[in-house]
Amino acid sequence: MTTERTERVIVSGATSGIGRAIAIRLASRAAVVGVMGRREEAAREVAAQVEELGCKAEVLQADVSQPSAVEDAIGAFVAKYGGIDTVVSSAGIALTGLVNDFGLDAWDQMISTNLSGTFYLAKYTLPELIKTRGTFTAISSDAGTQGAQEFAAYCATKHGVNGLIKAMALDYGASGVRCNAVCPGFVETPMADQLLDGMSTEEVDYYKKSVPLGRFARPEEVANVVAHLSSTEAAYSHGMIYALDGGATSGYYSAPA
Ligand code: NAD
Repeated sequence: MTTERTERVIVSGATSGIGRAIAIRLASRAAVVGVMGRREEAAREVAAQVEELGCKAEVLQADVSQPSAVEDAIGAFVAKYGGIDTVVSSAGIALTGLVNDFGLDAWDQMISTNLSGTFYLAKYTLPELIKTRGTFTAISSDAGTQGAQEFAAYCATKHGVNGLIKAMALDYGASGVRCNAVCPGFVETPMADQLLDGMSTEEVDYYKKSVPLGRFARPEEVANVVAHLSSTEAAYSHGMIYALDGGATSGYYSAPA
């Protein structure tokens, strides 16, 4: 017996890393995945992979820091597919540095992409999610629940995302819209590669050793958690700040020698 696919999904930051893995994971069950990204060519490549899994794909070219671009992309998707069931906010950037050295433009870029980008996606999809009793999942970070040296701006944005999700859970629970944040530690993606490349061997070693499971995550492991949280199997999971970090934020930890 084949079940008809009905789920309409939008994933931001779907052209790379975690967002790409989520788009592909959800394509195995969805009717259509909106592949939202700034880079049209990269979005087309992911869309082709989505379609290989028997799912429609819609390229939604948008810079999430631009509210009108997000609104227009969502409007076009809804006009074509009639609604939205599942939204995942994965678009993000990580600029590092000490507060006293951090450029004002860099700060604005961090806030407008990571925090406002999540807000715009929520703002323009919630009217549809209320109609479908859908789900909104934000890819936050372990830097959303604790500090990290020289990651002040990033930490501020991800703490903001977690606050946004908690408040949305209170505001939209009665409407049946489940809102959750997933907080990974390091995940093997281009973002992490770039961050780790800029660190000393000792620092990279420190981060690796601080994970009780002894390794960083793979993007597919984040996608599996998002697939669960956005499914009916997680019908009671709401307002969660889901630590997905191999135990790294469980407490002080020193790896066995
Ligand atoms: P990545 O760099 O591989 O992918 C990020 C994606 O976001 C890219 O597709 C990029 O084009 C897109 N993006 C960036 N700015 C955008 C904008 N203004 N408009 C639209 N798209 C934009 O990084 P990733 O590791 O896959 O990161 C995905 C999310 O996971 C981010 O929110 C990041 O903060 C979070 N995260 C990553 C890690 C990690 O170690 N990789 C850990 C915790 C949380």
